[in-house]
Amino acid sequence: MDSRQSAILDIMEITRWVSREDSLADLFADSPQDSIDQPEIVIESPESEVTTVSLPNPQFQIEEADWESLENAIRVCTRCDLHQQRTHAVVGTGNHKASWLIIGEAPGEQEDLQGEPFVGRAGVLLNNMLKAVGLDRTAVYIANVVKCRPPGNRDPQPVETSTCYPYLQRQIALIQPDLILLIGRIAAQNLLKTDTAVGRLRGKVHYLAESSIPMVVTYHPAYLLRRPSEKRKAWEDLKLAMETVSA
Ligand code: URA
Repeated sequence: MDSRQSAILDIMEITRWVSREDSLADLFADSPQDSIDQPEIVIESPESEVTTVSLPNPQFQIEEADWESLENAIRVCTRCDLHQQRTHAVVGTGNHKASWLIIGEAPGEQEDLQGEPFVGRAGVLLNNMLKAVGLDRTAVYIANVVKCRPPGNRDPQPVETSTCYPYLQRQIALIQPDLILLIGRIAAQNLLKTDTAVGRLRGKVHYLAESSIPMVVTYHPAYLLRRPSEKRKAWEDLKLAMETVSA
């Protein structure tokens, strides 16, 4: 291993085992870490943080929305029942001109409270994974398939993913990323329109049907926290993503 590879493993907080049998390293250590006269509504969170959001005008079309109107529409969305229990709809975060778009599943408890994707324990690991390839949250854009938290962190239901999908499609169209990293089963299966397991979808480059953007599948950081032995495969996926962007 050369010094650069060694430095990357350090950033990822990877524990290196040097055993007689050349055992696999323990990767990614589990670490802590057109607005014409539009009406407005006020959203008040339990912490009394107040946000004013313009309601979409009646002619609003998701597929033609700019960032501002898209974000406003997501924040006040009532297209499915998930809005009833949310604290915040989680639009996404990062660079609107990002080369990498990271797509996860849905907000969890912390994301619902803070209104930002991947801020919990899985988010800390995601940040470390990005750091390992020289990126951080502000360089990429991070979004979810579903913008509101499913109660009890259950899987989003098909009606919820399909109702929310136009928002993600518009985010993809606005960003026009060079690469989409699909993290976890829900993201992979929804974007690839398949029910094949992540283990069989990873390891190759897929293309988004409507735009030919390359997509790489990897494990969800929450899964990696439960199954650290799979972190080496996630690192292989990140290397494939890097190679794909620089090809
Ligand atoms: N898991 C996800 O898939 N998305 C989040 O925003 C947080 C956890």
